[in-house]
Amino acid sequence: MLKDDLAGVLFTEEEIAEKVAALGARISAFYAGQGIGEIVVAGVLRGASVFTSDLIRRISVPLVLDFIDAVSYGKSSTSRGTVRIMKDLSEDIFDKHVLVVEDIVDTGVTLQCLVNLLWARKPRSLHLCSFLNKPSRRKAQIEPDFSGFDIQGDFVVGYGLDFAGKYRQLPYIAILNPSVYESAT
Ligand code: IMP
Repeated sequence: MLKDDLAGVLFTEEEIAEKVAALGARISAFYAGQGIGEIVVAGVLRGASVFTSDLIRRISVPLVLDFIDAVSYGKSSTSRGTVRIMKDLSEDIFDKHVLVVEDIVDTGVTLQCLVNLLWARKPRSLHLCSFLNKPSRRKAQIEPDFSGFDIQGDFVVGYGLDFAGKYRQLPYIAILNPSVYESAT
């Protein structure tokens, strides 16, 4: 059973729904307040697929939904690194207002690489939203503009987040029992 691998629930379905609604309201107010008529929401696969799907239903400004699958390579101990695009955006983001949606920012290296790559396409604006944030583990100098929950260094799964491809379907966020990843290494 998946549940046997978990050390405890960190955020319940209800807490997640409440946070997603609050984030959607903040994001809507941010863009509407600037008179921005349409945004491109770029969900980062695969982890942010669940969060992105919930979030767009809480954003009231017109939007186009897109996804990008990016894997970062390079030294995770520095902010340098390169990102390999496994699946690119379908939209041309030149001159568009783009909101990148991530599941979690840990060291920030992946997001930093992705942001550099997307800025090169000259969007009109680029903002970042992450459901979870681990500020204490940051290596790259990047912070999400909109962030759901700050958490400690624990490895978490569920609500789209995985370990070795598993646990994404859990409707809540749970701390993975360290014995699971210790036994995998
Ligand atoms: P970063 O480049 O170190 O910020 O790593 C970001 C990526 O690592 C995220 O998009 C996740 O795919 C993965 N990741 C980091 N921490 C966790 C975690 O606690 N659970 C699941 N995936 C994580």
